[in-house]
Amino acid sequence: MSFEFPELPYSFDALEPHIDARTMEIHYDKHHRAYFSKFTDAIKGTDLADKSLEDIFAKISGASGAVRNNGGGFYNHILFWNSMGPDGGGDPSGSLATAVNSAFGSADKLKDEMSNAGATRFGSGFAWLIVKDGKLAVTSTPNQDNPLMDVAEVRGEPILGLDVWEHAYYLKYQNRRPDYIQAWWNTVDWNAVAKRFEKAMG
Ligand code: MN
Repeated sequence: MSFEFPELPYSFDALEPHIDARTMEIHYDKHHRAYFSKFTDAIKGTDLADKSLEDIFAKISGASGAVRNNGGGFYNHILFWNSMGPDGGGDPSGSLATAVNSAFGSADKLKDEMSNAGATRFGSGFAWLIVKDGKLAVTSTPNQDNPLMDVAEVRGEPILGLDVWEHAYYLKYQNRRPDYIQAWWNTVDWNAVAKRFEKAMG
């Protein structure tokens, strides 16, 4: 596959006041871009160059650290950007809401569980809402790993991703990761999450 660095789907200040424009600019234009270019450098001329990210992640235990960390970083941030939007917040609706209520009891309980997964992820990583065996589940991964990787403790199809690396919040929230996570829920684009849910459910 030939990989491309995608446009951010909204402006840097679109998620204010929950996520500040300067953080978004550095996060997208420095951190995400660096993962992308290091990933494409790492696979150049190898047999991974014509594989999809999903195929690479399914056998990531056999790949180099550069491919694992930067390929994960490339993918995870695309999902993260597309988990948020300027009209975000509120609760899921439709069939996603039904599945959330069935798996967690309520949208608030899902938010509590995922917030806790992000807050207690030691060091850097991501919290995820995934589809696993046709059901919703919350999990988290260290560093730039994700639930598509064969090294993940809990594997599944990610439909919502929360970046809890310090670079995602430190300028505005400093050490207060739980405050960042609470604010982040106001950015979540549930329509986008619902589309990924429908796709994952086939
Ligand atoms: Mn990040």
